[in-house]
Amino acid sequence: MEEADLKQKLLTLSRILYKEGFLDSFGHISVRVPGKDYYWITRGEPSGKGDFDVRDLVRVDFHGNKLEGQGQPPVEYIIHTVLHRSRQDAGCVVHVHPYHCILLTVAGIRFVPLTVQAATFGDSLPVYDVPGLIITPDEGATMLDIMGNAKAILLRGHGVVTAGATIEEAFYLTYHLEESCKFLADAHRLGPVIPLTRAEIQKRLDYVKSRPADKNPYAKVWAYHEFKTRN
Ligand SMILES: [Zn+2]
Repeated sequence: MEEADLKQKLLTLSRILYKEGFLDSFGHISVRVPGKDYYWITRGEPSGKGDFDVRDLVRVDFHGNKLEGQGQPPVEYIIHTVLHRSRQDAGCVVHVHPYHCILLTVAGIRFVPLTVQAATFGDSLPVYDVPGLIITPDEGATMLDIMGNAKAILLRGHGVVTAGATIEEAFYLTYHLEESCKFLADAHRLGPVIPLTRAEIQKRLDYVKSRPADKNPYAKVWAYHEFKTRN
């Protein structure tokens, strides 16, 4: 995809996440440009978030230096810098603060997958166990280390970071992580929970992998929400 198209798609993601309540006063998203050593990120200044256009994007290199744009990167830009620099599979990074994801971390409930969609995250998720912003290079390196190769990390008392190969995958991960955490919180209120087995998780992962890119669950969830939040 061309750089200009990637930027437009990032803006679409911004609109969807705003309409679905993920991007509010806080939160930011970014996309790496394939073959380049920089990424585009939503600016950090106070804004309504729902009507961003290309002037609200900032270009940042893999050392965290701003290269282009009218605004400033968000204070937690290091989250995006370390992931885009270190992980080839992190083409799009989302940092938001969904209620049920945070609820699990402050209730001391370990993430386990209960549903088909939750299988995407495997049998557990890493937790960054410091309830503060991730701003310094040391904090970014620690988060990256704890995250390992996981598609998402829970930040105790703070939020989540998700990393998708594509913008569609990053949205799927963000949306379904919050939904999965809501299932988990509600299921715990009702009684013992029944996590997916490793075999059940693998079956789902194999299925997702077998689907062509334009027909996989990421594409379906994106198409539905793109339409829903446009109409
Ligand atoms: Zn944050």
